[in-house]
Amino acid sequence: MSRPSYYLTTPIYYVTDRPHIGTTYTTIAADALARYKRLCGYDTHFLTGTDEHGLKVQRAAQERGVTPQAHADEVVGHYHTAWKQLNISHDDFIRTTEPRHERVVQAAFQKLLDAGHLHLGEYKGWYCVSCEAFLKETEDPSPKCPDCGRAAEWNSEATYFFRLSRFQEPLLAFYERNPGFVRPAYRFNEVRARVKEGLRDLSVTRTTLEWAVPLPFDPKHRSYVWIDALLNYASAVGYASDDALFARRWPADAHLVGKDILWFHAVIWPALLMALGVEPPKMVYAHGWWTHNGEKMSKSKNNFVRPEEVAAEYGVDALRYFLLRELPFGLDGDYRDASMRQRYNSELAGDFGNLVFRTLSMMDRYFGGVVPEPATEPAGPLAEASAGLYRDLEAAMSDLQYSKALDRIWEFVRRANQYVEERKPWQLNKDPNGREALGCVMYHLAEACRILGLAVAPVMPATAASIREQLGLPAEETRSLQEALAWGGMPWGGRVRRGEPLFPKKDG
Ligand SMILES: [Zn+2]
Repeated sequence: MSRPSYYLTTPIYYVTDRPHIGTTYTTIAADALARYKRLCGYDTHFLTGTDEHGLKVQRAAQERGVTPQAHADEVVGHYHTAWKQLNISHDDFIRTTEPRHERVVQAAFQKLLDAGHLHLGEYKGWYCVSCEAFLKETEDPSPKCPDCGRAAEWNSEATYFFRLSRFQEPLLAFYERNPGFVRPAYRFNEVRARVKEGLRDLSVTRTTLEWAVPLPFDPKHRSYVWIDALLNYASAVGYASDDALFARRWPADAHLVGKDILWFHAVIWPALLMALGVEPPKMVYAHGWWTHNGEKMSKSKNNFVRPEEVAAEYGVDALRYFLLRELPFGLDGDYRDASMRQRYNSELAGDFGNLVFRTLSMMDRYFGGVVPEPATEPAGPLAEASAGLYRDLEAAMSDLQYSKALDRIWEFVRRANQYVEERKPWQLNKDPNGREALGCVMYHLAEACRILGLAVAPVMPATAASIREQLGLPAEETRSLQEALAWGGMPWGGRVRRGEPLFPKKDG
């Protein structure tokens, strides 16, 4: 039987910007989900990429005296470097300037025209050049952009409209049938309420834009922002080019997005797919934004959290851990430097790293590094504490509740540390009749480390690999996560190799 498919995406990131805490957060969350699904045996496909068309890119390139393509090529390099450094395991990286994508944009426009979903008209309104967006209607004679604060320009031009207004009822019916389509639920309620107020047709082309995909049937017009950008999720998996592949991957299982682009993913994207006769994705998950030490991050304050600096100080896994542990996925959060340090020292260095380090140290000291057989006590309190771990992880991860999954894992970490204190291996070691009991305790601790190594792997892949290596286990776990998390999987008789502490304590 072939493995079930799981297809997940990040948004494509705009190439006027380098990777920052926001894009890093989405991408790390998606990576943890992709790794989790792979461990569960899914044929997982994880897509990320870059959005490379538009006026902002055109202008940024102009200012630098390079072509838009050269500009995009350079910024894409920064993304590749950052994602490699952060151990991001994407299976594909799509760029909207690639022929495989541009062809699909053109095919989709033709299809929309043929099916009567486009009409030519004129768009008038206040327009923010920087944000490439018309402002909402306003009485203000000289309005400023609500997003960036720059003065808006009055703009009017011929444009093709996508008949979004036709999709109000189909969308509401779709939402009704798919109560899990937008997560978290409170954001879904906001989307539904806005759709109920009515939808207006959407201007989807520009005649003034050079750096964009020309329409096949009217080359004066070029694709404008959203149809081009959203279609990446389909073009990357064979839409209008490889039907077998598309049938295998589509509909996408999860689009991870920031809350600022939820509307486009929860309303325009499913409407567009319906117009193309394609099923909408299964889930759109909108996450919140970070502040830094209680303040909004901004260029003027120059107070950005710099992921590469955090990773340099604490390690990549600690950064990944912190971002996913600190707050429930979906909510806004505050990145506090003190909180990062505190979690690092107490949870990673203290609870987790210490458990692994002392287990392996004691294994060396008491058994010459050879894992003993738990002859008299094959199971015990740690077996009990690990029972249900898979079920709880699955429940949390199926709703992208990383913090909940990590809380559950840390319950087990603390139980294992408590077990060490209860059983006092150092005393058993002095007891001439304690040898068998000591063997059981040490086996149980090694088994707890093995289980933990698997459980943290989606969030902390390098740490997980190090634990397996220290336990003398093969790099790859071949069984599904559910089977592999079952108690008793640690073989005895093998030799462990104690390494350096996984998370050396930070002073100060
Ligand atoms: Zn603006």
